[in-house]
Amino acid sequence: MPTLKFAVLAGDYIGPEVMSEALRVLGHVARREGFALEPTAADVGGAAIDRHGKALPDDTLRLCEQSDAILFGSVGGPKWENLPPKEQPERAALLPLRKHFTLFANIRPGLLYPELAAASPLKSERIPDGIDIVCIRELTGGLYFGRPKETTTLADGDVQAVDTMVYRRSEIERIAATAIAAARSRKKRLCSIDKANILETSVLWRKTVAAYAARHAPDVELSHMYVDNAAMQLVRNPNQFDVFVTENMFGDILSDEMAVVCGSLGMLSSASLGAGRNSLGLPFGLYEPAGGTAPDIAGKGVANPCAQILSTALMLRYSFGLEEAASRIEAAVRRAVTGGARTADISFGGACVGTRAMSDAVIAALS
Ligand code: NAD
Repeated sequence: MPTLKFAVLAGDYIGPEVMSEALRVLGHVARREGFALEPTAADVGGAAIDRHGKALPDDTLRLCEQSDAILFGSVGGPKWENLPPKEQPERAALLPLRKHFTLFANIRPGLLYPELAAASPLKSERIPDGIDIVCIRELTGGLYFGRPKETTTLADGDVQAVDTMVYRRSEIERIAATAIAAARSRKKRLCSIDKANILETSVLWRKTVAAYAARHAPDVELSHMYVDNAAMQLVRNPNQFDVFVTENMFGDILSDEMAVVCGSLGMLSSASLGAGRNSLGLPFGLYEPAGGTAPDIAGKGVANPCAQILSTALMLRYSFGLEEAASRIEAAVRRAVTGGARTADISFGGACVGTRAMSDAVIAALS
């Protein structure tokens, strides 16, 4: 019986509330599918600042290094927002984790069931079948990490700030490979998004993705789109995309636009895959809901646990190679929601259930 060894970093506010439900669902799946779980919890974010004086304690990092994957909740909130920016939970915990494990590929499914079409700001007739697309964002390069990154006072007294957008061909090739694999697991359609009419990095991006796909994936239909057009197309007709791949900053913006178009943050999960392999020879990854710590609803037992539950499905798929179990969880969430179990964020004023009852419905739908 395989044993799944992973770190559990629940974080702050609704983080622990939805994490405990996700682990309960995962426990049921493990029993049914015949695998064992070895989750180990550690402090991260604001909770870690309170207990250990820093958002990513050394013990937490060590635990992650000894694990095959990280199941992450979310961090931050009003309690810590007066700390200096560098010590803020998100910046001091998530960014170092991304950097330490070179989590270069952020995979975000943009999924909206047709039954939840009302959650989208788009008109229902534009999305009669809901939304089912995937955003792949490069996460460790580009404008957010390039050097120089500085503010200087010039000789004439004016002040100038510089950020640097930089990409290497090897960085583009490895995210292209991830995107091609994702496209192959779906409709074999990949759209690469850039700004090749203006930016040097985008010219290299487009050339590299095209050459890599021609060499390694002639079976995948590749198209290219400028980012300003992509931002419009995402609200005009999101389903024209199947899988799209883009650089760090464009992906930051487009993935948030996609989240809004897909309705509630409580339903959206994400995977950040690393360059390294875990002890099973599969990608090490960090799996988390797309949303934050939702302090406005924390402690009330009303948060939607589905995004965290769906994050466990992504972990099973990518870091443990358990596709069948992953699909089983995704199907159970879908059955529970379409069967009428809805937390407040997806109930549109109708009857709603709390966090525990929502995960109970998912567990019931597993059978
Ligand atoms: P948020 O995503 O926490 O909340 C935005 C809105 O979505 C809120 O109305 C919230 O109630 C709702 N929401 C989010 N998740 C939900 C769920 N599971 N069920 C039901 N409703 C849900 O964004 P915010 O309010 O801007 O941020 C709150 C804190 O979270 C901030 O400190 C921010 O820095 C942090 N944050 C952390 C992460 C992370 O850890 N990866 C990501 C985003 C924001």
